[in-house]
Amino acid sequence: MSTPTPTALVTGGSRGIGRAVAETLARDGFQVFLTYVSKPEEAEAVAAGIRERGGSARAFALNVGDAEAITTFFASEIKDKTDLAVLVNNAGITKDGFLIRMKDEDFDRVLDVNLRGAFVCMREAAKIMSRRRHGRIINISSVVGQMGNAGQVNYAAAKAGLLGMTKSAARELAGRNITVNAVAPGFIETDMTASLPAEVRADYEAAIPLKRLGTPQDVAEAVAFLASDKAAYMTGQILAVNGGMYC
Ligand code: NAP
Repeated sequence: MSTPTPTALVTGGSRGIGRAVAETLARDGFQVFLTYVSKPEEAEAVAAGIRERGGSARAFALNVGDAEAITTFFASEIKDKTDLAVLVNNAGITKDGFLIRMKDEDFDRVLDVNLRGAFVCMREAAKIMSRRRHGRIINISSVVGQMGNAGQVNYAAAKAGLLGMTKSAARELAGRNITVNAVAPGFIETDMTASLPAEVRADYEAAIPLKRLGTPQDVAEAVAFLASDKAAYMTGQILAVNGGMYC
């Protein structure tokens, strides 16, 4: 019997950083399962593009703000059907606003998708990876979780929470040969940053030592490294991909 191709699950793989991660992990030989919530055509196009280049990929609708949907997805599509080697918790949203005007529901929604969703995916993946005694979990945090950002208390809380969760899970899962690391991107050219006013963007560029926003591929290569055997002795770490803006 042939050994199954190891699977990498990338949440939010239809666009931006998640798309680049999905394509890069497929390049590196993983079967890629990518998820989306609102843009099925874009997700299907990413999966089709990977298959056209000789890789293996499937797209799935999965709202990571819905814990029950996540557990159902792992039970029906992952547990007995794949050799789950890598989980990339990438799906994320922003709902920005200054602290004194921030609505409870905007705080809760950002925490539900960015933090609780990653927690539930990580828990379900860890159960499966524990049985195979090997795995790589990579959480996409943010420079905002490290240094804070005016107008983003909800997002900063979620992204800082991911860092604490990464370090704790790394300690729990090391005995099962599962590594858990975070990548903390700086400001990256995606839909998430496309609406920045020109003057804010210029301020960011001026504050970044490498004098440019990052690309999704800059982040994807860091994720691919952490997913590879080259990173076998790294766990509980935060790999910053931020052009030097926060060290
Ligand atoms: P993006 O272009 O806005 O794409 C977001 C992705 O997440 C899309 O695939 C989207 O799916 C998916 N998504 C959104 N809500 C979801 C939900 N409830 N359930 C499942 N999937 C959901 O974002 P990005 O800039 O690539 O960011 C990717 C990750 O990197 C996020 O965690 C973000 O916080 C983090 N990050 C980004 C930057 C940056 O500057 N861009 C910097 C630091 C960290 P649909 O396409 O179906 O809507």
